[in-house]
Amino acid sequence: GEDERPPHVAMLATPGMGHLIPLAELAKRLSSRHGLTSTLLTFASTASATQRAFLASLPPAVSSRALPPVDLSDLPAGSAIETRMSEECARSVPALTAVLADLRRTTRLVAFVADLFGADAFDAARAAGVRRRCLFFPTNLHALTLILHLPDLDAKIPGEFRDLPEPLRLPGCVPVPGPDILMPLQDKSDACYRWMVHHGAKYRDADAVLVNSFDAVEPGPAAVLRHPEPGRPAVYPVGPLIQSGGGKGGDNDAACMEWLDRQPARSVVFVSFGSGGALPSEEMRELALGLEQSGQRFLWVVRSPSDGGAVNDNYYDAESKRDPFAYLPEGFVHRTKGTGLLVPSWAPQTRVLAHAATGGFLTHCGWNSVLESLAHGVPMVAWPLYAEQRQNAVMLADGVGAAVRVPEAKGRVKIAAAVREVMVGAGRGAEVRKKVAELQKAAADGLKEGGNAAAALAEVVGTWMPPSFSSFQSSNC
Ligand code: UDP
Repeated sequence: GEDERPPHVAMLATPGMGHLIPLAELAKRLSSRHGLTSTLLTFASTASATQRAFLASLPPAVSSRALPPVDLSDLPAGSAIETRMSEECARSVPALTAVLADLRRTTRLVAFVADLFGADAFDAARAAGVRRRCLFFPTNLHALTLILHLPDLDAKIPGEFRDLPEPLRLPGCVPVPGPDILMPLQDKSDACYRWMVHHGAKYRDADAVLVNSFDAVEPGPAAVLRHPEPGRPAVYPVGPLIQSGGGKGGDNDAACMEWLDRQPARSVVFVSFGSGGALPSEEMRELALGLEQSGQRFLWVVRSPSDGGAVNDNYYDAESKRDPFAYLPEGFVHRTKGTGLLVPSWAPQTRVLAHAATGGFLTHCGWNSVLESLAHGVPMVAWPLYAEQRQNAVMLADGVGAAVRVPEAKGRVKIAAAVREVMVGAGRGAEVRKKVAELQKAAADGLKEGGNAAAALAEVVGTWMPPSFSSFQSSNC
């Protein structure tokens, strides 16, 4: 007889809240718009309290399941996070094959979705006989273009990217100066560089690539990637998929919202470096003094500095291990009592960005943060740290014009100037604020019924459905 169960999708989230959050959002949308259920598969290495609370808050149509732990103790100390994630995925293929085979028995599994560091898991999907393999790329079309070109660039460019005499030009993309190119590509002798080249080749094993971006924010590569190309999977911009509703609310949530309620409209700059970012203590100090000097109100999510560790020191666990306030300049807390709110470790970012009092976002340019900022019409001060954040800053500041970038030598005077420009500046700042308002509208329009992003997702879902599902599809759109 007919199988009455809803179509099901298995989704693999590689470590990091920045990967899990948009994938969960995709799962929610597949449920609410298309009637699909899904299982989010996570790695054992990422069972942080933040992640557990997040998974527990998801609706019943979105289940989750942790893969068994794999041994990574043989990896050299100080291995890049990209290497760790890629190794964990590759070593999880046997376990994943078993999980997918099990899901095929217990659900009506129609597709497998892996995120950017999980392409090796396509082997598991194939072995388990899952019909469709799809890549979910939680960052943007610029970064996707670069990774898809990597096997080629690896063959053609002998030296390091940072030594390129000219910015790197890729089809449709804003030219990116060598030192701003994706951090895991900056040292070709590092294992993570090889992994990225490997992923670039492996992405071609997908039937489709869903990208968490939208045309208006990067029209150049959107126009190029819209055209099918032999040997390259079809690319669908389905964003911005950003954290919605979500969460039980953390310890700081009420304090943040109550404080914002008391501030004038558009007067506060929100300062946060994502789920994993950490500054060296010297820059943390300059940032504090720069915020003070800017004369603007601020809400700062303060993390312990990265001294002795890496700029992504907090990546696997967003809770700072030390008391972050201990690193602030002498007297700073007292002097800024009337204008600033400091919260440790974690803030309800999307609610903060949605609040009427928020007028700017000093961000590390993690792509989720960028999308959340644009979706809420908040102009950005760009302070990139790692991953693809520097090239995001380039495309935002030099490309579409949605941000002002803090210059490389991070002194308090330049920090204060960039913050003031974005918040109240009459020249560049005013242009940026206007552009961001336009992008907010474009993002919202794309997600409406019949908009670009909604249509792209519907098209992909259509390809997942066996022909007998067609009636199901049309009745649920
Ligand atoms: N986030 C949050 N509160 C924080 C820091 C981060 O809610 O204090 C959320 C943020 O809204 C975003 C994600 O965590 O959805 C961070 O993703 P992003 O891509 O910006 O940066 P990453 O953490 O991957 O560096």
